[in-house]
Amino acid sequence: MTALWDYPDYDDHEGLHLFRDMASGLTAIIAVHSTALGPAAGGTRFWHYPDPADAITDALRLSRGMSFKNAMAGLPMGGGKGVILADAARTRTPELLAAFGRAVESLGGRYVTAEDVGMSDADMLVIRRETRHVAGLPVGSDAAGGDPGPSTALGVFLGVKAAVRRGLGRDDVAGVHVAIQGVGSVGGGLARRLAEEGARLTLADVDHDRARQLAAELGAQAVRADEILRMEADVVSPCALGAVLNAATIADLRTTIIAGGANNQLATPQDGERLQARGILYAPDYVINAGGIINVGLEYLGQGDRAEVKARIARIPGRLEQIWDESAATGDPAAAVADRIARRLIGRA
Ligand code: NAD
Repeated sequence: MTALWDYPDYDDHEGLHLFRDMASGLTAIIAVHSTALGPAAGGTRFWHYPDPADAITDALRLSRGMSFKNAMAGLPMGGGKGVILADAARTRTPELLAAFGRAVESLGGRYVTAEDVGMSDADMLVIRRETRHVAGLPVGSDAAGGDPGPSTALGVFLGVKAAVRRGLGRDDVAGVHVAIQGVGSVGGGLARRLAEEGARLTLADVDHDRARQLAAELGAQAVRADEILRMEADVVSPCALGAVLNAATIADLRTTIIAGGANNQLATPQDGERLQARGILYAPDYVINAGGIINVGLEYLGQGDRAEVKARIARIPGRLEQIWDESAATGDPAAAVADRIARRLIGRA
């Protein structure tokens, strides 16, 4: 049996908290990787894990990712993540969300939650009744905050354009072929922005109807979910779940650029080296997808409005450039360069 601190992704987490509420049926994990820069911020995922050990690994990997993401985004926040272990039917009740809110509250502000996969701004309102350490609540159109998805999509869009500039030497995306895996909140928002600027799109989603409908609306092509990573395209954009880039999938890639919104795209650190060895330009996931946490981070901190959120998201391409420059100068993979900068920022060089 593996002790929690022996998990490969434990990486000196400050805290790993397990919560159980018998009345509501809640089983949840809150992982706090670092509070060096401020309260550990990161959304909560509501997901069914057939093996609970995978939920722990997910929480650990995602919370470290949030530490790195928040540091790189220049937010005075540390990194953490919540995971609610859903049953197979993904039964979600107000009582269960309220119990999760009390779990967040019990950490006294060391962890701040928001929505992630499987959660919505309406869920955050239920959690808000139990704790004030929550962001991603519905807000007015000029205010920072609310659903982080559109902000993430904006940042990924700007990051894709930066990668196209760097990798293809092109200042616009007209006619550039982008293959998007997952057309939910982030991937769908990205697709719409790219379509507006004339990109050629191929879309896929495990919910094939979703991909087909969006493709019809945007004049794009829809393919089966298991084909998308192997598409011959200028850019492949993973916008579904994590760990999609591994030895096998990287060997099959037929793209120049990987730039997408999903968290933890690389299955292992070696996969950053594999991309580099294949000459594929990689936009480190937690740098390109920081738009959403910038949005809800500023909401929680009470700093700035929607214009400030946009101004900060506009700095994402510059950060990517800095990473790619250092990668070119040192020969280290972009993913390793990003980790090195992030670790330095949180005092864990
Ligand atoms: P979402 O649930 O709205 O959309 C995800 C989509 O991916 C769904 O349509 C789902 O059917 C599809 N999908 C799942 N597995 C797939 C597969 N194997 N192949 C193809 N499609 C698949 O979620 P989202 O908010 O768009 O988030 C997408 C990714 O971006 C996640 O990894 C999330 O952690 C990450 N992310 C999201 C935000 C945000 O603000 N929403 C911020 C940072 C990172």
